[in-house]
Amino acid sequence: MAVALRELETEGITLPRILAGLTNDLVEHRRRYPAPPLSARPLGDITTAIERSGLRGRGGAGFPTARKLRAVADRHSHSRHPVVVVNGSEGEPASSKDVVLLTRHPHLVLDGALLAAAATGAREVIVCIDETATKALHAVRKAINERARTEASSRVIRVATIPHRYVAGEETALIHWLNGGEAKPTSNPTRPFEAGVGGRPTLVDNVETLAHVAQIARHGPDWFREFGTDDEPGTMLVTITGAVTRTGVHEVPVGARISEVIAQAGGFLSSTKAGAVLVGGYFGAWLSIDQARRTSLTNEDLRPLGAGLGCGAIVVLPRTTCGLKETARILAWLANESAGQCGSCVHGLAAIAGGFANLNDGADLTRGDDTVDRLVRWAGQVEGRGACHLPNGAVRLLRSALTVFADDVERHLAGRGCER
Ligand code: SF4
Repeated sequence: MAVALRELETEGITLPRILAGLTNDLVEHRRRYPAPPLSARPLGDITTAIERSGLRGRGGAGFPTARKLRAVADRHSHSRHPVVVVNGSEGEPASSKDVVLLTRHPHLVLDGALLAAAATGAREVIVCIDETATKALHAVRKAINERARTEASSRVIRVATIPHRYVAGEETALIHWLNGGEAKPTSNPTRPFEAGVGGRPTLVDNVETLAHVAQIARHGPDWFREFGTDDEPGTMLVTITGAVTRTGVHEVPVGARISEVIAQAGGFLSSTKAGAVLVGGYFGAWLSIDQARRTSLTNEDLRPLGAGLGCGAIVVLPRTTCGLKETARILAWLANESAGQCGSCVHGLAAIAGGFANLNDGADLTRGDDTVDRLVRWAGQVEGRGACHLPNGAVRLLRSALTVFADDVERHLAGRGCER
């Protein structure tokens, strides 16, 4: 079900919510966001409120947040205190929402992390940030020091820097890294909620998710549900780039029409301005202009199109940019991000990226149809074969490109060049 932005404005419900009153000063933050009810309520109340809110993780997987909290809390014992890991690695190149929150609203994220710690019985919070995100690192360290001076807490908060690789942000890779290993994913069935950091039950939650947790604890689940749909409630952060005049991070209702979200960013979904829309970032899928016009920002709407919300990144491809060239560039990036430990990923993604580059170059002119057939076959062989979701992301992008840019594929393979 789509939600129209203008309708909500006339109901007197205002946005933004987690992007309101951005500040990295604790005194200023507390003026707008009083200290969360860490001890005033039974801990179970926090989880119940999150459950009733229907909050789902905003890092990409969309898992119900309350279920994660309960899974970790259930494994809490006096000898095994859980750990909360704030996943601020944000390896998706088209997304910058988490860095924006960490840099400009660190105390809201820390409020949410401490609530999650209270709900699970954790004594330690580790904020994981990409080693290259220097402003975010500085802001969070400053925020932690500021709290240590002015707000007593029984919980330790520390920062861990994470290698600048996409797969480093996958939750099992984070745990490996924090335990002194390489930042590479594993398909080991022991999950972080069972045995994570130091073998302790570990909650890994995305930065934006925890900012919502802080707000739900203050305002309640009904307030959160004023936006969004019944199944996918709340607001979400989207990072919009490409053919828009206001690139950057916007807060929108889940369920808003993609066309309205793009309009809010100063873009226009006309075939004279835009060639396609990439939804979900590099791990998402291309939508044609017609599809994007008809679709709203919910997984329910996007899944039949082979897409999903992912981390909320939206790229509006300018009409003058070749979609095949852009796809070839992203596939090459994805292949390069392979952690090099699963054969189908290492060889499969390299083959797909190389095959697509040939297609883009029109280099395979005499066997044009074979090029597409081979890509489709390789996609089937790679899908679901890795220890993490990197291969699936590449396959999703590839399939959507072959569909949405089908006319361009023909032109390139026929050697007629690109009309863009
Ligand atoms: S699927 Fe690829 S990126 Fe993921 S763990 Fe295996 S080799 Fe690494």
